Amino acid sequence: MKVTDYLKDAKQTLFSFEILPPLKGKSIQSIYNGIDPLMEFKPKFVNVTYHREEYIYKEQENGLLEKVSIRKRPGTVGICAAIMAKYKIDAVPHLICGGFSKEETENALIDLQFLGIDNVLALRGDSIKTESSFRPHTKGHQYASELIDQIDDMNHGKYCVDDIKMEPTDFCIGAAGYPEKHFEAMNLKTDLIHLKQKVDAGAAYIVTQMFFDNKKYFDFVKSCRDFGINVPIIPGLKPIKTLNHISFLPKFFHIDYPEELSTELLKCKTNKDVETVGIEWGIQQSKELFSQNVPCIHYYTMSNSDAVKAIASNLF
Ligand code: FAD
Repeated sequence: MKVTDYLKDAKQTLFSFEILPPLKGKSIQSIYNGIDPLMEFKPKFVNVTYHREEYIYKEQENGLLEKVSIRKRPGTVGICAAIMAKYKIDAVPHLICGGFSKEETENALIDLQFLGIDNVLALRGDSIKTESSFRPHTKGHQYASELIDQIDDMNHGKYCVDDIKMEPTDFCIGAAGYPEKHFEAMNLKTDLIHLKQKVDAGAAYIVTQMFFDNKKYFDFVKSCRDFGINVPIIPGLKPIKTLNHISFLPKFFHIDYPEELSTELLKCKTNKDVETVGIEWGIQQSKELFSQNVPCIHYYTMSNSDAVKAIASNLF
């Protein structure tokens, strides 16, 4: 079923979450261990992130360095199929532009359709570590809006290869939104222009980047509405868990902590202290969003469901 239909049918705010494929070499059980504790909150869908290749330099016998491509977290599509078979809920794979030609994207979407996957979250992806800025595949897409165009074309029976008659797909397409603006955008206004492009191209809902100040989400929703972006906007929340997160999350995701939260974090001496603050903050954020009837709250588990469970048990 489509995410947008779940949102339409919902009597109250829904619970959803996102998981990362395990590091290569780990079994699917590690995924189930992360999902099992959250099933009591009746998620209708679970997102599975996509991680593109990275490049490392390996020394060869002759002493020269060889550039080798590795994928540390493969398996997004297989995990989606496994989740749907085991839990009988929808799985939403993330699909990125980075590393994919249009034809590879088309073939991946055909696989998803065969597996009975109805939803995809369409993203650009970030640059790989060896590049200073995002570089698309030479035959791929530069922006998520172009990927969304391609999926929407397939939904209308238009494929890359158009000399044979194609059956239309019927994917519900999600896109990413940034309450604190995407870090490359010139300003919030240009980011909204590009977000609207994604919606006009066919994105039927938006999931936001994590934020720690609900006001930023409410302001963002208002700006979107003023801008003519009228699709559901699902807030994304991440419980802070470790001392490392205190600096890592703002640096990596380009977000700020509100002062009240940073004051509490400054007092923390151990990971446990941070986790306690993170859970309490997550509960307060979630309660306020819930009371404002947001369509769904989407939790970033980053493969660790304990804190999300502690927060969700107060609401769902
Ligand atoms: P875009 O919408 O293409 O935007 C990227 C930048 O380009 C923005 O600054 C935008 O304003 C600008 N832009 C867009 N269109 C134009 C245009 N026509 N002209 C000029 N500028 C333009 N990454 C992964 O690798 N795997 C994942 O699974 C994953 N999941 C995510 C889930 C969520 C909910 C979110 C919020 C992010 C996720 N990401 C993931 C990270 C995402 O790939 C990065 O944030 C990436 O840098 C931008 O992706 P996007 O889809 O928002 O890009």
